[in-house]
Amino acid sequence: MTASAPALPQPRPGVLDISAYVPGRDHVEGVEKVHKLSSNENPLGPSPQAIEAFRAAASSLEIYPDGGATVLREAIGQKYGIDPARIVCGTGSDELLSLLTHAYIGPGDEGLFTQHGFLVYRINILANGGTPVVAEETDLTASVDAILAKVTDRTRIVFLANPNNPTGTYLPFDEVKRLHAALPTNVLLVLDAAYAEYVRRNDYASGLELALTAPNVVMCRTFSKIYGLAALRIGWLVGPAHVVDALNRIRGPFNLNAPAIAAGAAAIRDDAHIAAALAHNDEWLARLTREIEALGLKVTPSVGNFILIHFPTTPGRTAKEADAFLGRRGLLLRAVAAYGLPNALRMTIGSAEANELVVAALKDFMSAGQGNA
Ligand SMILES: *Cc1c(COP(=O)(O)O)cnc(C)c1O
Repeated sequence: MTASAPALPQPRPGVLDISAYVPGRDHVEGVEKVHKLSSNENPLGPSPQAIEAFRAAASSLEIYPDGGATVLREAIGQKYGIDPARIVCGTGSDELLSLLTHAYIGPGDEGLFTQHGFLVYRINILANGGTPVVAEETDLTASVDAILAKVTDRTRIVFLANPNNPTGTYLPFDEVKRLHAALPTNVLLVLDAAYAEYVRRNDYASGLELALTAPNVVMCRTFSKIYGLAALRIGWLVGPAHVVDALNRIRGPFNLNAPAIAAGAAAIRDDAHIAAALAHNDEWLARLTREIEALGLKVTPSVGNFILIHFPTTPGRTAKEADAFLGRRGLLLRAVAAYGLPNALRMTIGSAEANELVVAALKDFMSAGQGNA
């Protein structure tokens, strides 16, 4: 041991630069009934068939799961017309983002993402000793030109959440294709399409087509949002065979558990449940945007299952005070200061009851009484 050896085990460079991810609140001190609108979960819950499959899996918990998550990859492949060999499943798309970063970014490498992009990208880049590089957005929307301006010969991955969380904005597929066409072929473009199922725009595409044809594009999806299975931690990605091969070498051999594999495969076949979740979202996304704007608050146009509400900086009317006011009524929204949005709150489209309560509470908050819960 040399004299300069540290007294304690030291995390690798970058690890202590990470601000740990703070999940959406799920309780408030002293408030009994809460409506959790802080994590973009599905207010309708999962498909009843997924719950049934989960219960059935409880009878064989002593058996290791299928390490290849075969029935799940086959069900996904069938739904989207993809060769299951091009699919990798993960414990949430969070794990896939982590595996991708681990496989492609090391010390000296750069990972690029946008100004108000999902925070998990930065965490993963730092965890692998890489350098996070941030591209400015325009009107809370990713800008292809700003991203391209930040590409260097050290760039290894460009992460694009499309639609983005927490802004709810998106890039049309033409723009995604323009981004891809201008990237060097050794840069991996990661399209994080966690909210793709909610988008109702003709000029949007999740990137499936690109991930199946380009040598340097992957698209990630999740069962945590419209499928209502956040607790089970299921995500998947599709990409070129060489990327799939790299990920299969480094992932845990049994990364998905058996109840998750079974429930996910059942959920993806229940088209009626997804249609119901989408119809609920369509109705309330439009209605909440309209009703909250009518209170004098700005709402960023969203294509996801959440909205970003902007508050004034006037004392008594700030986002921070609104968050506390709503919290006292058991209405838990998401503070997004960590995303560079200190004057906004993100609200998940909830049940009809929760949504109506938020509108009523915001009305009280914005009206003369200033801050009386
Ligand atoms: C919710 C979300 C995910 C999905 O996370 P899981 O790990 O699959 O639960 C991925 N990306 C973005 C942008 C998200 O908002």
